[in-house]
Amino acid sequence: MAEETLRAGQLIVIGGPMCGGKTPEFVQQIFKRRHQRRDLVIVTFAGSTRDYGEEGAIVSSQSGARILRSEVTHAFSETSLDEWWNKMVALYSHSLDHMASVLVGIEEAQFFPDLLCHVDRLVTLGALVVVAGLTTNANGEKWGQVLDLQSLSPEKWIQKNAICEHCHSVYGTMTARRLANAGESLSIVKVGGKEAYGALCRGCWAAREKYGFAGPKNLV
Ligand SMILES: [Zn+2]
Repeated sequence: MAEETLRAGQLIVIGGPMCGGKTPEFVQQIFKRRHQRRDLVIVTFAGSTRDYGEEGAIVSSQSGARILRSEVTHAFSETSLDEWWNKMVALYSHSLDHMASVLVGIEEAQFFPDLLCHVDRLVTLGALVVVAGLTTNANGEKWGQVLDLQSLSPEKWIQKNAICEHCHSVYGTMTARRLANAGESLSIVKVGGKEAYGALCRGCWAAREKYGFAGPKNLV
């Protein structure tokens, strides 16, 4: 039996608000563990508008951390992990045991409605999985299934906090949506970066409407 089939899966989750440095941490965690698996597979969200101009970069942050297309075995841009899984099964169809030879990175994981079941399956098959995503939305509610990954007993959970944009506290744990004008209505789910979101500490978030951010009445 090949050594790969005996390998145990592992799950590393990077969660937190916008502007907390999740992407640089994701890149660091991927490259730190790259030698542990034969293949590197990166899954990003197809609706992402983030583009920092790096040629050939499939993951990039404003700080300059990036993963290049040439550095990975397979790169996928998806709206659903169900569709992605079908492609993975086709690629590794000779044996699902070979999933144990894969390091899988999933970024912007809050957008994948079927995250939990696929991550569960991957780690059960022995894959090393690194997931990064927002934990809550601009209304302070759980967003997607990133927090649900706690139920899989991750080997490591990395909470990234931002600097509060208003008072500069190091506990900028809350994501807030910017308003262009006071009365506007915004969709609560929006793909965007710093132009659309900021991070605030709990106290400033409670008063976010005073600081130009969307309150409950602005989010639909
Ligand atoms: Zn603050």
